[in-house]
Amino acid sequence: MIKILKQPEGSIEVKRFYLDESKIIIVCPNCKSEREYDDYLSYPKINEFMKKSFYCYECNCEWQEEIKLNLTIEVKEKSNG
Ligand SMILES: [Zn+2]
Repeated sequence: MIKILKQPEGSIEVKRFYLDESKIIIVCPNCKSEREYDDYLSYPKINEFMKKSFYCYECNCEWQEEIKLNLTIEVKEKSNG
């Protein structure tokens, strides 16, 4: 049996947290051009919003978004038998 008394918080000690298996499209708020987000998160905070800066190469504008990496530990229920 496992009891989780406190979920993880703070930041992950990972220098480069890649999001390879996700598909994130960045849409420029100014010119609406789209591109795929192919960056990594550096020492990401978990379960709290992080400000990220984005840049549009089409119209040269820069803006910020807040993203959150959710991480919880869950224990799978054992089936009887
Ligand atoms: Zn743009």
